[in-house]
Amino acid sequence: MSRAREAVDERRAAVAALGKDLSRRARSRCELCGEGGSLSVVEPGPVPEAPDVARALLLCARCAGLCATPAARPLPADEGLRFLATSIWAELPIAQALAVRLCRRVPAAWAREALDGLYLEPEIEALTDGVEPPPAD
Ligand SMILES: [Zn+2]
Repeated sequence: MSRAREAVDERRAAVAALGKDLSRRARSRCELCGEGGSLSVVEPGPVPEAPDVARALLLCARCAGLCATPAARPLPADEGLRFLATSIWAELPIAQALAVRLCRRVPAAWAREALDGLYLEPEIEALTDGVEPPPAD
């Protein structure tokens, strides 16, 4: 096995190891929308060199899917995404940052109004700059 390959596997194992701490924090609920079901560990980015529980979230399949879409693409102005208007006030910084990042991409009046009343701490604003996921080919 090559060194680079080993590093990738090691990081993946370290991310998986966050699952236990995240489960305790999330209490079996998606940390973005609050729904139950099957949850997975997601690093919304900017991804730190060493996996960090403060920079990772346990998300349901829908929210993990939203997080994986390219940052430049608008999201549907879908009523089903209205939970974002609440999640942008999340106490957990990485959850708040991801909610803001997604809410900014929803071209709906409710999303703009929700963001209008929001003040973000600079360190959370910095987290809202997601890293573009690599193109799927
Ligand atoms: Zn969710």
